[in-house]
Amino acid sequence: MKKYVCTACGYVYDPAQGDPDSGIKPGTPFEQLPDDWVCPACGAPKSMFVEEGAGYKEQGVKK
Ligand SMILES: [Zn+2]
Repeated sequence: MKKYVCTACGYVYDPAQGDPDSGIKPGTPFEQLPDDWVCPACGAPKSMFVEEGAGYKEQGVKK
C-alpha cells in the first residue's frame, strides 16, 4: 500500500499504521479513508494529499 503525503504540512499517512486518533484502523488504504477524513496534523482535506514519491512539485509532469 502506498503512503500519502500532506502537501500542506508534510504529514505522511502510512496505511500500515492507519490513523488511530481518527478511528482509522491500521491497514486502511488511503483510498478507503472516509471523505471527511482530514490531516491529523493540520486539518487539510484528502484532496491536499499526494502519493509519496510522486513528488508534488512534479505533479502533472509525469502523469
Ligand atoms: Zn497536513
